[in-house]
Amino acid sequence: MEKGLLIVFSGVSGVGKGTILKELMAMEDLNLAYSVSMTTRQPREGEVEGVNYFFVSKKRFLEAVKKGELLEHARFVDNDYGTPKAYVEQMREAGKNVVLEIEIRGAKQILKKCPDALSIYIVPPSMEELEKRLKERKSEDEQTIMKRISKAKKELKEIDFYEHIVCNDDLATAVEEIRQIILNEMNK
Ligand code: 5GP
Repeated sequence: MEKGLLIVFSGVSGVGKGTILKELMAMEDLNLAYSVSMTTRQPREGEVEGVNYFFVSKKRFLEAVKKGELLEHARFVDNDYGTPKAYVEQMREAGKNVVLEIEIRGAKQILKKCPDALSIYIVPPSMEELEKRLKERKSEDEQTIMKRISKAKKELKEIDFYEHIVCNDDLATAVEEIRQIILNEMNK
């Protein structure tokens, strides 16, 4: 069986990555598997252990890093995030196209290790729209939102190493664009 693709999917906080991914994951012909990350962040309302993240202590996270259990890891606004290696390998061996929803420094580490990974970055139509969406989400306090926005501004200057940059102005259009990118890569 052919090994599945490794798909690096990034975008600034609040850009709508979660919503886009949910739609893509439901498309059976894309044959996707979502890699659940490990994080030291506290769960948000409605987030489920093992579905959204593996929520761990700092001690457990550092142990995973030390033991080489993570394919990549990075710190993002006061918390640590990392991709468990074993699941990614198993799923790719089983022919699944594995999606990593990770931030930019983790993406760089992945592309260094696996240069053939497909990389997609989602941008917002404008910074004003991004701020509006983050505020509407109501999942962070004002100070965290401002930190995330300032992070987004810096991050957007460094995204040219991604192979594909997709603007999430209209959800359906963005989903379709990414769907075609993945289908193209699968047919190569
Ligand atoms: P959030 O706290 O909003 O769930 O995630 C914050 C940022 O961390 C997002 O940009 C998300 O893509 C990123 N992220 C989530 N999991 C991982 C991971 O395993 N590794 C890295 N490098 N970033 C991650």
